[in-house]
Amino acid sequence: MTVRENTISIIGAGISGIICALTLAKSNECKKKTIRVYEHKNRVGGRAHAIKVNDHYVDLGAGRFSSGLHHNVKEQVKSLNLAYEKFPFTQLKRPQALHKSLKSILKNLKPLCDEHAHDSFEEFLTIYVGGSQAREMINALGYDSLSLPNITPHIAFDIIEKHPEIQGFSDNAGYEWFNLKEGFSALPERLYEQALAHGVEFHFGHELIKIDADSNTPTLTLLKDNQQEVTINEGEMILTFPPTAMSKLNCGFPQDWSNYTYGSIPLFKGFLFYDTPWWQDLDLADHVVIANNPIRKLYFKDNRYVFFYTDSDYANFWRDATLKGEAHYLQTVKELMADALKCHVSQLPEPSTHTYKHWVHGVEFSQESSPNHPKTLEHKKSHIISTSDAYTPHCGWMEGGIIAGTNAANTVLERVRKRQALNQEDCELAHI
Ligand SMILES: Cc1cc2nc3c(=O)[nH]c(=O)nc-3n(C[C@H](O)[C@H](O)[C@H](O)COP(=O)(O)OP(=O)(O)OC[C@H]3O[C@@H](n4cnc5c(N)ncnc54)[C@H](O)[C@@H]3O)c2cc1C
Repeated sequence: MTVRENTISIIGAGISGIICALTLAKSNECKKKTIRVYEHKNRVGGRAHAIKVNDHYVDLGAGRFSSGLHHNVKEQVKSLNLAYEKFPFTQLKRPQALHKSLKSILKNLKPLCDEHAHDSFEEFLTIYVGGSQAREMINALGYDSLSLPNITPHIAFDIIEKHPEIQGFSDNAGYEWFNLKEGFSALPERLYEQALAHGVEFHFGHELIKIDADSNTPTLTLLKDNQQEVTINEGEMILTFPPTAMSKLNCGFPQDWSNYTYGSIPLFKGFLFYDTPWWQDLDLADHVVIANNPIRKLYFKDNRYVFFYTDSDYANFWRDATLKGEAHYLQTVKELMADALKCHVSQLPEPSTHTYKHWVHGVEFSQESSPNHPKTLEHKKSHIISTSDAYTPHCGWMEGGIIAGTNAANTVLERVRKRQALNQEDCELAHI
């Protein structure tokens, strides 16, 4: 395959890659350009990945959005006419003892954040409430990433205020949350269809394996279907996958691209389906329980299914449990679910089926989390563009992916306009 200068090559067909391709394809500046998207997997959507189990869509990856926080997602959902429903998990059931006072403790501590801008949230809490209550508070919040050393008090309060299960411990208790009836991957899938209709070419089964960014002719090498090499060495090149995938490519990332450094945390979601919705009798439907054990957050989705969601060390705990075999995994789920619900394990029925997904790099972020992070990164010599939700203030959210894709498209459009203006000037000079 030859790649002409008039070609724009985008690597990655997650939400950011598709938004980037679609924005360019709709622009006047790119009307005559060929836009190609190369994707390693055989599907679009990346970390937005829904599957159908027992006639129900389940979100193995991205699952919910807030109309108050995620304006770009909301706009896309509306304009694509995607069916959505309430994501009701803003009310806790079976509260832990500390849950009663957590909101007022946090409210009193929030004004002190500025004095501890460089401390971790756990260090900050330890100063004011002591080490053991600090750990209990983080435990009661259900998101274990809150204890990571790079989570400052400001970032921690932002996380608490912007996650449905725990927003009630802040003044943001009123945010409404939704999920897509056909799963979150319906959003990138519909945008993919639009991109195809606008002439964007998609090439699945293409893994970017090498970036020669320092050579005089910057070159991307992809492996097609694990066998044939495809090279791209002309036109604009945009990489729309997260920092951990960039780091694997031996392309001087991050130092030749950014003054920032990046991190990631693993996530795990487990889904269980039962013949009868036994949790309805316990008044748990559409509620979430934050457990003081590795199951962490346990959700009861109306009469459809039960799922749990964990991050950081507990995500790896569940990956390890699955590696010990299905029987061990399911027994561990059952015991910890019984513990969370304060009932005997024999009172819980066996699931009729189940599914789960461990994401090694579920959430990606900039370690120095700052609103000043450049909108896109450009390799210092080749000017290849890198974009990711991790570079935006909405890292870890589809909103960040939409913003990242738009930012990359705008960077390309600016370059095209500059080149067009220069060509115009050259033409005018030639006529003098
Ligand atoms: C478990 C989980 C829960 C989440 N929950 C939510 C939620 O509730 N709400 C929300 O808004 N967001 C949520 N997110 C985050 C959301 O999924 C991401 O922010 C979003 O998908 C980022 O999109 P992206 O296009 O930037 O990256 P990605 O989705 O990671 O897409 C990158 C694409 O690039 C491809 N790729 C990578 N490397 C290569 C290579 N070398 N060659 C070719 N292709 C490559 C990948 O296969 C992928 O398709 C969640 C994520 C996870 C994992």
